[in-house]
Formats: sequence, C-alpha cells, structure tokens
Amino acid sequence: MTMDTDVRRKSCSFCGVRGKRGMKFGGGLGAMICESCVEHYHELFQSRSRTKAASKPPWESMSDTEILANLPLISQTAAQVDEFLVEWVELARSRKISWAEIGKAFGVSRQAAWERFAQRVEQVRSRSTSA
Ligand SMILES: [Zn+2]
Repeated sequence: MTMDTDVRRKSCSFCGVRGKRGMKFGGGLGAMICESCVEHYHELFQSRSRTKAASKPPWESMSDTEILANLPLISQTAAQVDEFLVEWVELARSRKISWAEIGKAFGVSRQAAWERFAQRVEQVRSRSTSA
C-alpha cells in the first residue's frame, strides 16, 4: 500500500491551507480538513442548531477577487482528490483486485479502467519504492 500520508503534501479542502509539519488533518474520500476548519464548522453547526437561522451561502457576499482566489484552491482540492483516487486504485491492485472488478466499480469496462489508471498506479508504486 502506498498512501501518501505526509501532511506537508496535503491541503485543507475547506480553506486551502497547506499542511505543515505537526498539523493535523482529518480526511475522507480524498477531502482533507484542518483543525481550525473542524472548529469553525463545529461552532457554525452548533450556533445554527440553536438559532435555526438559515444563512445565505458564503459566495453571495464574496467579492469578485475572492471568487477568483478560490478557483486555484478548488483546483488544488480536485488534484488532491484525484491523487487519492489513484492511491486507492493502487490499493485495490495491491490486493490483487482485477481491472475488471475495478472497472465494474466505476461502471466502465476493464479496458477503460486500465487506460484511466494503470500508468498512474505504476507512478505511485515507483514513487513509494524510490522514497
Ligand atoms: Zn481548513
């Protein structure tokens, strides 16, 4: 298994902060969350449940500059999730799960799954053996 668990190569999928040594991130399905976002959303959900106030989505009050600043952060999250997906396909392959079964999980053919992932799975493996 070759999961990249180094927090320095992760970023928070909610605020975009880059990981540093000693930081803690929670993760799930490729999305990562930093401690301050966990606290922020915990407080937000707590206060909403007390007031039952429906707030407007945050982008409605954002400036154009803020909208533009979010574009690379969303792209960074997409790349992180994509890399996580490749790591999980590599995990499946390391368990001898066939390309046919992997394709079936995605609803595509064995060939389509292989074409999408085989080369990148090899890159993940060579990264882990050279590290
Ligand atoms: Zn965060």
